[in-house]
Amino acid sequence: MRALPLVLLLASGTAFAQEPDFSKVEIKTTKLTDQLYVLEGMGGNIAVSVGEDGVILVDDQFAPLSPKILAAVAKLSKKPLRFVINTHWHGDHVGGNENMTGAGAVIVAHENVRKRMSTKQFLKSWNMTTEAQPKAALPVVTFTSDIAFHFNGETVHVIHLDPAHTDGDSFVWFEKANVVHTGDVFSTVGYPIVDLDSGGSYFGFIAAADRFLATGDAKTRLVPGHGAVSSKADVQAWKTMLTTIGDRVKKGRDQKQSLDQIKASKPTGEYEARYGKGFMKSDRLLETVYQSLGN
Ligand SMILES: [Zn+2]
Repeated sequence: MRALPLVLLLASGTAFAQEPDFSKVEIKTTKLTDQLYVLEGMGGNIAVSVGEDGVILVDDQFAPLSPKILAAVAKLSKKPLRFVINTHWHGDHVGGNENMTGAGAVIVAHENVRKRMSTKQFLKSWNMTTEAQPKAALPVVTFTSDIAFHFNGETVHVIHLDPAHTDGDSFVWFEKANVVHTGDVFSTVGYPIVDLDSGGSYFGFIAAADRFLATGDAKTRLVPGHGAVSSKADVQAWKTMLTTIGDRVKKGRDQKQSLDQIKASKPTGEYEARYGKGFMKSDRLLETVYQSLGN
């Protein structure tokens, strides 16, 4: 898949001049509870639920990493891989789907994930084309609003969000473990990546942050699509950043400022040091905020 480095670039915040060398990637496993782990390699963070009923993965990074990911999972459980939940359609989260289907998993995602993966996608903002995916890579079970798994003595809620990163975003709430996997609707490595060409919207990130804050309790841990396992306080700080920048852009537009004038007023100001080094540079972010405001 030639578009791979660009998808990677899009989501991971790192630019690659050529195809990344997956052979050098090591999978790092972090234990959150006896039954829930996070795997980091290259691409989106993976959550792993293990227990008497088998294994559930949330997202599966890139196809070349599947053997390493499955080896890391095998160290946590000898039970079969039963389900993979995709938080959205981007290649750094669903790239291993075909291999995971081959390993016995049933892929589950919002219906828009299947729709986008089934057809050729062109992302104008990044001049990136992704071909339609083979059948074995596609979600077999789709839902429109939410779905729950009663598995491993746990209730796993998969809940669709209004358009934010894409139009097919879901977050996954492991109720007993008290952990939320947010997909790319929350990140600790940069500004939000608003994929407008996949139906995303900047303001959806703020609504989603409210959903995350309302889920679980004060001790709920959040696994972002990219970056470090976080607390509710981290999500609150993220939401404040999103709201502050959104309000500044809206104010400028209400005052009939052009996008260039808004950019010149530096609405990302105090957040540049913390978030400005990711994939989304300030100017590009402001374009997506501006466009998300509509007419
Ligand atoms: Zn993504």
